[in-house]
Amino acid sequence: MVRRVAVVGAGVSGLAATKCCLEEGLEPTCFERSEDIGGLWRYTDQAEEGRASIYRTVFTNSCKEMMCYPDFPFPDDHPNYMHNARLQEYICKYAEHFDLLRHIRFKTLVTKVKKRPDFSVTGQWEVVTQRDGKEDTEVFDAVMVCSGHHVYPNLPLSDFPGIQKFKGCYFHSREYKEPEKFRGKKVLVIGLGNSGCDIAVELSTVASQVYLSSRSGSWVMSRVWDNGYPWDMLVISRFHTWLGNILPRTLSDWLYVRSMNRFFKHENFGLMPLDRTSRKEPVFNDDLPSRIACGVVVIKPNVKEFRETSVLFQDGTVQHDIDVVIFATGYSYSYPFMEDDSIIKSRDNQVTLYKGILPPPLEKPTMAVIGLIQSLGAIIPTADLQCRWAVKVFQAPLFLSSLPCRYGSSTTLQLDYITYMDELGSAIGAKPNVLQLLLTDPRLALKVIFGPCTPYQFRLRGPGKWSGARKAILTQWDRTLR
Ligand code: FAD
Repeated sequence: MVRRVAVVGAGVSGLAATKCCLEEGLEPTCFERSEDIGGLWRYTDQAEEGRASIYRTVFTNSCKEMMCYPDFPFPDDHPNYMHNARLQEYICKYAEHFDLLRHIRFKTLVTKVKKRPDFSVTGQWEVVTQRDGKEDTEVFDAVMVCSGHHVYPNLPLSDFPGIQKFKGCYFHSREYKEPEKFRGKKVLVIGLGNSGCDIAVELSTVASQVYLSSRSGSWVMSRVWDNGYPWDMLVISRFHTWLGNILPRTLSDWLYVRSMNRFFKHENFGLMPLDRTSRKEPVFNDDLPSRIACGVVVIKPNVKEFRETSVLFQDGTVQHDIDVVIFATGYSYSYPFMEDDSIIKSRDNQVTLYKGILPPPLEKPTMAVIGLIQSLGAIIPTADLQCRWAVKVFQAPLFLSSLPCRYGSSTTLQLDYITYMDELGSAIGAKPNVLQLLLTDPRLALKVIFGPCTPYQFRLRGPGKWSGARKAILTQWDRTLR
């Protein structure tokens, strides 16, 4: 019987894990290496070892109704997209409201997680921690890994010939905090992800010139979508997903490309993804097209070679007198505390997890990795449902055998949000029963089908059912407009 659960990390995933364990009568102990909760969203001026580090101006790209904990809507006065400090306030209120802090041991680093010798029978883990130089070992019935995946920089210098000769300065975007010290400089940002675009746009207000280099292009979406509504309140709906699934692939691709190009033609801005029908996660930036149109950000192809003070690009163009290069080249997964990290990560750096959660090679399903999958949806509701699913597996492992076997395997676990949430939800009885709703509560049913797929939908029923979910769905647009 699983009773004691170790939760590694007190970011938004670790808090969801702690709360879900408590809801189901388990005893969670959450270990957090830093001095506070929030993980990535707790801004500090200096990057801290082992914890994600953000720049001062990070704003969310999921809106408040789509990214809240499903039983804890944001207060009315919060804007739809918010600054990291505001999100951090909300995270603290959540932890306080559900009395989670007393289950968290701060300044406690998990240094080792290893199977007990009798693991194949008990499924138990030994968790070694360090606090104030003192080591401690405890036994847990299950472990929830919530340590984040924007921590260990991917800095592929070997892909950039000549970088050793380059006389300017270069660093990974993890080290970037604010623009002032780049005033008057010529900066090259490499990577067209969210961080690369944000940093390029921000620097363009102070730098003498910003170049943004991309290997394969990307869809760039705006937070403000049709008629000024939040993009995710319009795009992420059951009806849209259903349409996408029943239409022929060519028609659905055509519609997708058309919707991505509705505000500006990516081709004309040098941003068009190489794979035109790619559904890889888009980048969110409201200002990039205008910065490009004003010439303060110049889009460049991949770098071919660095020279002492200049850079040669794949299209043969050379940019001289580059002062600074920022590698916004993403992150690698790492689980330094896993005695055998092949449990989560295979040799070729790929992640293979059942339902994006369970490491497959285990004799007993007593480890869950939370928050690792990527989809168009927000992480908080995803982590919440993953935790409810995982806790159910811990408590009744036999329930696993009733599920279809499908492993996601890739360097990022990229999935369709609603399909994934419904898959987890239906396994634990938390997927909204649309047919039943149509018969018993048609007003709610229409909101669930045609409206935004807000997190509350997954707390209408099942374990952790929230009595406020119906009202939260019926009033979601009121809060958005306010
Ligand atoms: P983290 O927030 O990284 O927390 C992990 C915690 O684990 C940290 O507190 C760390 O100190 C602790 N820890 C790690 N190792 C150990 C250890 N060995 N022992 C003890 N403690 C440990 N997602 C969205 O849904 N919407 C957005 O708008 C959004 N914007 C983003 C913007 C940026 C710039 C980035 C980089 C990401 C964004 N994301 C967004 C994704 C983001 O990863 C998630 O929102 C979320 O912060 C992940 O939470 P987490 O709890 O899984 O991990």
